[in-house]
Amino acid sequence: MKQKKPVVGVTPLWDEEKDSIWMLPGYMDGIMQAGGIPVILPFSEDEQELEQLVRLCDGVLLTGGPDVTPGLYHEEPLGEMVVTCPKRDVTEGLVFAKAADMDKPVLGICRGIQLINVCLGGTLYQDIPAQHPSGIVHRQPAPYDRPVHEVTLLKDSPLYDCLETETLSVNSSHHQAVKELAPNLVPMAYAPDGLVEAVYMPGKRFLWAVQWHPERLFRTDEFNRKIFSAFTEAMQ
Ligand code: MN
Repeated sequence: MKQKKPVVGVTPLWDEEKDSIWMLPGYMDGIMQAGGIPVILPFSEDEQELEQLVRLCDGVLLTGGPDVTPGLYHEEPLGEMVVTCPKRDVTEGLVFAKAADMDKPVLGICRGIQLINVCLGGTLYQDIPAQHPSGIVHRQPAPYDRPVHEVTLLKDSPLYDCLETETLSVNSSHHQAVKELAPNLVPMAYAPDGLVEAVYMPGKRFLWAVQWHPERLFRTDEFNRKIFSAFTEAMQ
């Protein structure tokens, strides 16, 4: 019999206008091409329910999306450019905590890296153009599957071990970023302007997060395919 495929819980996207859950196919397809089975998780505030669900999953993918509520890192919103989704904060905070407790592999993408950093006690730049201006484009215009800036990988990081490259060209669709890194996280890659673009937590089986969007790059880029593969392989 063929080996059972790992099941990956994917945190849902929320459409405020339609009052509806939705999903970008790239997250699902990225997991599937790496040999996993993605399932979209529900929104819930029930800790026990989410614990039960995370237990059913072999790993968890924290998706991209709106801004983490600044109150969660003890700041007031900087202005109207900060757009939040409190129901995502609640569900994802619980899902992440449970997955980390159970040492299930976790991959955070874009909002995912920000959410993980905040959950572990870090803070965010609420608006890069206002708080960390540079010549680097972090919020690219469409198409979103094109690289717009480079990142430099740290040589003693698991990301470097996985990709075996010092630089990587990535896409970029964020206006927030890690400011103070959470104590338990270690950087794996930096943008040329010094922003943290990838992190991991030592001691965990696989707890990685990236600021760019592998789910929009894996179809054309082998490095980003390898990120999804490293994630599902950690579940075997
Ligand atoms: Mn970027």
